Amino acid sequence: MKNTTPHHHPKFGEFSSYLERFQSGLHDILARHPEIETRNHLQGLSAYLVRKIHETTPLSVFIPEEFGGWGGRPKESLSLVEAAAYESLSVGLTFGINSALFLDPVKKYADHKVREEVLRKFVDEKAMGGLMITEPDFGTDALSMQTVYQKVAGGYTIQGSKHWGGLTGLANFWLVAARKERENGKISRDLDLFICDMNDAEQRIEVTEFYQKLGLFQIPYGRNEVDIKVPETHRLIPQTSGIKMMMDSLHRSRLRLSGIGLGFIKRILDEATTHCRERIVGKKALLEYDQVQYRLAEIQAFFTLTSGLCLYASENTPLDTDLSGEGIQANAMKAILTDMMQEAAQSFMQLVGANGFRRDHIAGRAIIDCRPFQIFEGTNDVMYAQVSEM
Ligand SMILES: Cc1cc2nc3c(=O)[nH]c(=O)nc-3n(C[C@H](O)[C@H](O)[C@H](O)COP(=O)(O)OP(=O)(O)OC[C@H]3O[C@@H](n4cnc5c(N)ncnc54)[C@H](O)[C@@H]3O)c2cc1C
Repeated sequence: MKNTTPHHHPKFGEFSSYLERFQSGLHDILARHPEIETRNHLQGLSAYLVRKIHETTPLSVFIPEEFGGWGGRPKESLSLVEAAAYESLSVGLTFGINSALFLDPVKKYADHKVREEVLRKFVDEKAMGGLMITEPDFGTDALSMQTVYQKVAGGYTIQGSKHWGGLTGLANFWLVAARKERENGKISRDLDLFICDMNDAEQRIEVTEFYQKLGLFQIPYGRNEVDIKVPETHRLIPQTSGIKMMMDSLHRSRLRLSGIGLGFIKRILDEATTHCRERIVGKKALLEYDQVQYRLAEIQAFFTLTSGLCLYASENTPLDTDLSGEGIQANAMKAILTDMMQEAAQSFMQLVGANGFRRDHIAGRAIIDCRPFQIFEGTNDVMYAQVSEM
């Protein structure tokens, strides 16, 4: 998405030039280090490559101006993840995890002092954050999670098992979801979110296994045992209930996935069009075949639809809006968007032929890397079922 109104940052300059600098820098790093996408980085990229990707301090786009960032405007946030996802879906998702799953809830619901301390670190120290909701026995049924917390002198203790938190072992901060264990041993229905600082020994979450993931090679995933103590001020403060706070955050995240989807589908459209112009089969360019044109037209339609979803997200997801009741829009958009991403990738691979079936070709990678988007942040089967019941 192009920005029309100029926006200037005292340190980083004008936004559209900043965005171009970020994107061309990312493009160069990926060209110089193809192993970023072709090797399975179980524990994440090396510190050197993470530093290179974050050289322009891209996460500053999500940070309020008073803490050194760009202000977290929805349109600019979507533009950044779009640019990142055009170059690499994993980088786009990494930024999405940081912004929608960690920074937005912290900006909106954290204690003021903790909020400032944490957010400044995303600009000054290029810190990263993620969200742990899913447990080995409770994924879709997250509200039945068994991670519990208890109020103790000076804070809260939290115990449980989590897995599949994006940036496992790499994030400097986590938001961990847990339910209150009452004195009679029963677990309350509502849940809470706690900020955990991995630089503090008492708050550190242990990684017991790094997963051999199928795609998104640069993002580490795994299993975590949570047995920590956090200060009282690290509990996010819900406006009504913890579940509503989580739904507000998840709905905003689902709506803003459209930025990642737009960059991803635009890249597929560009690559597929170039390929079909240049590839000669039976003495004519692929582009001249009806079936090929049908596939390209469908990818073009996905691009147009995703642009519309992105526009909707840019206008309807400011942080001060309560999105906890926006299930129809968020769930429908998330499921349709991620199904379009997968269909676009499947068509692209068909058009490329055998060469697409290589990890170092963007077509094969695209299919695998976008597949979990249909599963995480609300599995699509359940998203469709919920929309039909609303
Ligand atoms: C790459 C990746 C990244 C992830 N990132 C994160 C993260 O950052 N933080 C985090 O907390 N979690 C994350 N997750 C976990 C993700 O959110 C869960 O995998 C998801 O919620 C589904 O839970 P589950 O895998 O336990 O599947 P299950 O709950 O066992 O469901 C499996 C399947 O059963 C079907 N199903 C389940 N319930 C119903 C129903 N009610 N009606 C119809 N069908 C149903 C669906 O098809 C569903 O896909 C990630 C997962 C992946 C793969």
